[in-house]
Amino acid sequence: MNFFIDVIIPVPLKKLFTYSVTASEADFLKVGMRVAVPFGKSKIYTGIVYKIHQEAPTAYEAKDIQQILDDSPIVNEKQLKLWQWISNYYMCTLGDAMRAALPSAFILESETVILKNNTKNIDEGILKDDEFLVYEALHHQSSLKIHDISNILDKKNVLPVIKRLIEKDAISVEEEVYEKYKPKLVRYVKLHTSFSSETALQKLLEDLNRAPKQHQVILTLFSISATTKKPVKVSDLSTESGASTAIIKSLINKGVLEEYYIQTDRVQYSGDENEATKHLNEYQETALKEIKDSFTKHAVTLLHGVTSSGKTEVYVKLIEDVLNQGKQVLYLLPEIALTTQLITRLQNYFGEQVAVFHSKYSSHERVEVWNHVLNHSVKAKIVLGARSSIFLPFDNLGLIVVDEEHEQSFKQFDPAPRYHARDTAVVLANMHEAKILLGSATPSLESYFNAKQNKYGFVEITKRYNDVLMPDIELVDIKDKFKKKLMKGHFSDRLIEEMTETLNEGHQIILFQNRRGFSPIVECNTCGNSPQCPNCDVSLTYHQYRNQLRCHYCGYNSVMIKDCMACGSSELDNKGFGTEQIEEEVKLLFPDYKVARMDLDTTRGKYGYEKIITALEQQEIDILVGTQMLTKGLDFRNVKLVGIMNADNMLNFPDFRAHERSFQLMLQVSGRAGRTDERGKVLIQTYNPYHNILQQVSTNNYIEMFNEQMNDRYNYKYPPIYKQIKITLKHKDYNRVDSASIWLAKSLKQFFKDHVLGPESPPISRIRNQFHKNILIKIPKEHSLSKTKKAIIKVNNSFSSIKDFRSVKIILNVDNF
Ligand code: ADP
Ligand code: ZN
Ligand code: ZN
Repeated sequence: MNFFIDVIIPVPLKKLFTYSVTASEADFLKVGMRVAVPFGKSKIYTGIVYKIHQEAPTAYEAKDIQQILDDSPIVNEKQLKLWQWISNYYMCTLGDAMRAALPSAFILESETVILKNNTKNIDEGILKDDEFLVYEALHHQSSLKIHDISNILDKKNVLPVIKRLIEKDAISVEEEVYEKYKPKLVRYVKLHTSFSSETALQKLLEDLNRAPKQHQVILTLFSISATTKKPVKVSDLSTESGASTAIIKSLINKGVLEEYYIQTDRVQYSGDENEATKHLNEYQETALKEIKDSFTKHAVTLLHGVTSSGKTEVYVKLIEDVLNQGKQVLYLLPEIALTTQLITRLQNYFGEQVAVFHSKYSSHERVEVWNHVLNHSVKAKIVLGARSSIFLPFDNLGLIVVDEEHEQSFKQFDPAPRYHARDTAVVLANMHEAKILLGSATPSLESYFNAKQNKYGFVEITKRYNDVLMPDIELVDIKDKFKKKLMKGHFSDRLIEEMTETLNEGHQIILFQNRRGFSPIVECNTCGNSPQCPNCDVSLTYHQYRNQLRCHYCGYNSVMIKDCMACGSSELDNKGFGTEQIEEEVKLLFPDYKVARMDLDTTRGKYGYEKIITALEQQEIDILVGTQMLTKGLDFRNVKLVGIMNADNMLNFPDFRAHERSFQLMLQVSGRAGRTDERGKVLIQTYNPYHNILQQVSTNNYIEMFNEQMNDRYNYKYPPIYKQIKITLKHKDYNRVDSASIWLAKSLKQFFKDHVLGPESPPISRIRNQFHKNILIKIPKEHSLSKTKKAIIKVNNSFSSIKDFRSVKIILNVDNF
C-alpha cells in the first residue's frame, strides 16, 4: 500500500504538491503538521500537510519527504479552511496564504553547508592560498557554513573562493534545514548544594572574607531570594551587588554558585491585581443590551458610536461574557491604534490573559503568541492585534471585535494575499460560529450599507461619555483670508488667535496636515478649484513629464491647463505642503512653546510612536503637528484645540473614496479635542467652506454624508454598489506590457463588456524598472462573483499560453480599495 501527502509550500504555485510517505509516517502524520520537502533541483521547503491519501499523482513521480518537523499539528483545520477561503476569494494561492499566516520562524530556511569532497583525492598543489585554507579546515571539521569560511579567510565575500573550490571538485555543497525559533532562555544562579548546610556556608563566607566582592555577591544573593522568594537572575545579581558578571562567573567556576536556565516568554505582562470593569452609563448599557439582542439575529453587528462615547468599555463587557463561557476573543485594531494606552487598559481588566500581536514584534514574540493560542494557554484568551492576527490558530472563538472598522489599513495591498482583515474576520467568525462586532465613530460606507440592508445588525451611541460636548467645529475660509492678507504662511489669523488663547490657558494643540498633501494635484491659489475628470468624479493628477492632467480610473486626459477653469486665474499650484514645513512655521510663530512632529519619519522603531504619545500625555509637548497617525484611538485629556491645516487636498485626492475618507479623517481628528468637561475647538482651514463634506463634518452629520456619497457610488458604479477587481500587469519592457494589457482588456471585454476599464498607466507607471498597466473590472451586484472570477481565470490561462506574454507578471486585487 502506498501513502501520499499533499503539501502546501510557501511559494505561489497553483497546485499543491504530492509527496510519498511510508506507512508509518502516514500513520504518524496529521493534517497541519510541518514537513521538510525537496523541491526543484536542490531546494528544501517547509510544507504544511494538507491531505493524507493513497492516490499517486499522475503527472509526476512523487518524491519522498525529507523529514517530519512536528509532533502535533501547528495549524488547525479551521485555519486551513480560512486559507482556502482567502485563496478563492482573493484569487491567490494557498502558498501565499501560508506565508502570510505563519510567523517566519516557522518556515525553515535552507542554509548552505560546505563539505569536503571525499570521493576524490585532489592535488593540493593546484589550490591557491585562500582555497587551501578552506580545504585544510575541512580536514578538521566535517562541514563549514558560509560565515565560518568568512572567519577563516577574514573577508566577507567568499563565494568566489567557494565557487572555484567546487569547480576544482574539492568540495561539495549541501543544504541543511534548521529550525530558527528558539525560546528565550534566561540565566539564573543559585548557591551550590554543597553549601546548603549551615557549617559549610559559614566556612564559605569566612573564606571569602579575603575576596570582598565575591563575599558581597553571596550576601546579595541571599537578600534577593529572601525578598522576592523567586529564582535570581544573573543580571539582577550583578546590578544589585555591583559586581561584574566576570566575578559571578568566577564563583560559578569555583563551584560556589550554580547556573541554570529557565525558558521565558518574550511577551510578558508585569501587573498585579486586575481591576474591576467599569459600570456603564445608561447609553452604554442600552447599547450593550441592543448588541446582545442583535447578536441573536445577526452574527455581524455594526456599532456606530461617536468619538469618546465609551465604545471600548462596551467591548470590555462583551469580552467578559465570552471569557466566562471559556471562549477566545480576537480584538482587531489598525496597526497604528495598537498603542500602550489601549493595551494597558485591557491588561488592567484582564491581566495576563491579554496577548498582543503586532508587526513591530519580533518573529520570536509572534511564535510565542502563536503557541499560546495553539495550546489554549491562559495567556492568550484575548488576542489584541493588527490585521495578521486573523491567522492565529484559534479553535474556539466566541467573539471578534473589529475596532475602527473603517480604517484602510485593514486591507493588505502587497504582497498577496491582498486580503481585508475585517471582511476575512467576518468569515472567520462564521467558521467558529462566533459573534463579530464592527465598531467605529465613522463607519465605512460598505458596513453602514450592509447594516441598512439588514445584512448586519446595527446599534448606535450618540452621546459622548460623561456628557462631554462634541467639539465646536469652525470652518475658516482661507481664500478670503489670503485676499485680505490675513495669512501668515499657512496659518490664518483665526487659527493663530485660537492657538494663542489655548496656549495661554495651558492647554495643548494638535495640528493635522494630511500626508497626501504631496500628491501632484493642481489647485488654484485664487479659488481653490482642482480640475476634475468628467467621467469619474475624481481630481485629475498632474503628470509633469507629459505636461498632462490624467484620470487614474478611466484614462481620461487633457493637456495641462494654463488658467483655472473655474475663475480664470493663472496662479495654479501643484505642490502640496507637508508636516515638516508646518512644524517650522509653528516654531517661528510660537517660539516659547515646545513643538513636536508625528509622521512616518519620526515614528520609526518599536517605541518611536509611543515616545511621542507619552510626551504629549505628560505635557512635555505643547503643539503636536502630525499626519493621519494622530487620528487613531488616542485619548488626551489636555488637548483643547485641533487645527486642520488644509481640508482641500484631502477632498481633492484622486480616489473614489476621497470624500468618505476626508469625512472620517476630519471627524476622527476632531474627536481628539476636548475629551474632558471643557468643550474642544476644531478649526478647519479650507478654500471651500461650502463643500458638502465640510458642512457634514461641522454638523457631525454622518447620515447626510452617507446618503450623498451612496448616490455617487450608484451613479459612477463604485463599491459598495459594484464590486471591483483590479488587474495589474508588470514588465520591464514597456511595449510588451502595453500589448499584453491591450490583449487582456480586449479578452475580458468579451465576457464583461463595458464593465472593463483600461488598460491605464498608473500615476507611477514605472516602479523598480517595471512598467505597470492597470485594468479595472466592475461587477454589478446581480452578477455572481465566483462566476466572474472563473471567467477571469479562464482568460488568464489563455493569456499565459501566449509565448510573448508569459514573462508579464499579473497581479489580481479583489476589492482593491
Ligand atoms: P471611544 O472608544 O468610543 O472613543 P472610549 O471607550 O475611549 O471611547 O471612552 C472615552 C473615555 O471615557 C475614556 O477615557 C474612558 O475611560 C471613559 N469612559 C468610558 N466609559 C466609561 C464608564 N462607563 N465609566 C468610566 N469611564 C468611562
Ligand atoms: Zn480659480
Ligand atoms: Zn476618469
